Amino acid sequence: MTERHPDEFSIETLLASVAEGAGGAVVPPIVQSSLFAFDNYKAFEDRMAGRSDDPLYSRVQNPTVAAFETLVAKAEEGEAAVGFASGMAAISSTIFAFVRPGDRIACVEHVYPDAYRFFERLLRPFGIEISYYPLAEFEDNPDLLAGVKLAYLESPNTVVFQAMDLPRVAAHAKRHGTLTVIDNSWATPVFQRPLTLGIDIVLHSASKYLSGHSDTVAGVVVSTGDLIHRIRDLSLSLLGGKLAPFEAFLLTRGLRTLGARMRQHHATADRFVDNLSRHPLVRKVLSPGPNSVPGLTGRSGLLSVELDESVSIPGFADGLKLFRLGVSWGGFESLLLPTQIALNQSGEENSLQRFGVSGRIVRLSLGLEDPIDLWADFDAALNLSAKRK
Ligand SMILES: *Cc1c(COP(=O)(O)O)cnc(C)c1O
Repeated sequence: MTERHPDEFSIETLLASVAEGAGGAVVPPIVQSSLFAFDNYKAFEDRMAGRSDDPLYSRVQNPTVAAFETLVAKAEEGEAAVGFASGMAAISSTIFAFVRPGDRIACVEHVYPDAYRFFERLLRPFGIEISYYPLAEFEDNPDLLAGVKLAYLESPNTVVFQAMDLPRVAAHAKRHGTLTVIDNSWATPVFQRPLTLGIDIVLHSASKYLSGHSDTVAGVVVSTGDLIHRIRDLSLSLLGGKLAPFEAFLLTRGLRTLGARMRQHHATADRFVDNLSRHPLVRKVLSPGPNSVPGLTGRSGLLSVELDESVSIPGFADGLKLFRLGVSWGGFESLLLPTQIALNQSGEENSLQRFGVSGRIVRLSLGLEDPIDLWADFDAALNLSAKRK
């Protein structure tokens, strides 16, 4: 957390910075307008000809959205960012901007389940080949990415939370001219800044920690000016999954407290990992610690636990008082997701089944409640559920 940005400000200071030009308002106004009119023919013509970048139409450009994009780009140490209507819009729009029929994608195992469905149900029928590899293979096989157009990474990945050596993977990718894309939703720029580790493109489900308040669905992509221009031009304009001004306002508000929230999630998760690893009813704790891989500096509040056979998972879930049951994560409230429920989810292409996730695993999103209260609740429900069985 003491790590410094290049301009000597820590990320907390950057996230508290006030943008210029809002007439002294420290909060950017919500510009709820679909279009922006021009004063004269010349100004309109210049904008259409690309000689100015004044706002034109909110599918492509909006001042409230731009304020959020600028702040995220700074936090990730990227040159530019582009907001989207959801994390999935960010993922699909980024990939559509770079892959064409006949291209190959290499993806990490245990990727986010809807990213997996996007690859299998949409990209594959369009003639794009997708292969999945364990994280260690990306690190250890320098030729894995030969002939691969795009490497789709998550570190840590989903449910099992394995982390990878990003500088090493980025170096292999550079040698083969493979574009690297990483989903950084788990770590956030507070704990990991992949662009500084050699990764080309960072994206987020901003619905999670960036927003932090469980009141928004949104996504964002950060990279160089050139790559963001391509995504904006091809995918934002033509697929149209743009971020709305009100959502952008909520996201900027969320970012103001990202550093403080992540510090609290980290402290609570440390306490849980410590207690869980000594608990007789816990078989395994899945949560990468700070410095377990280069560039990862903290532990987020999202982790998994494999429970002993003697625990009734439905009994445990129903015995919790502070943890709610649900999907999503990264908000102020603590949540439990039993993987057995996700394994039984209806519909085809279930990545949890494909990559062999155990139904004995439960995923926790530790919120901002008092960690002592949270642990007492978790421990009591666990002990009771084992006795009950
Ligand atoms: C939730 C999530 C997504 C999808 O984001 P949405 O905002 O729900 O579309 C992508 N990646 C990860 C790791 C997620 O947890």
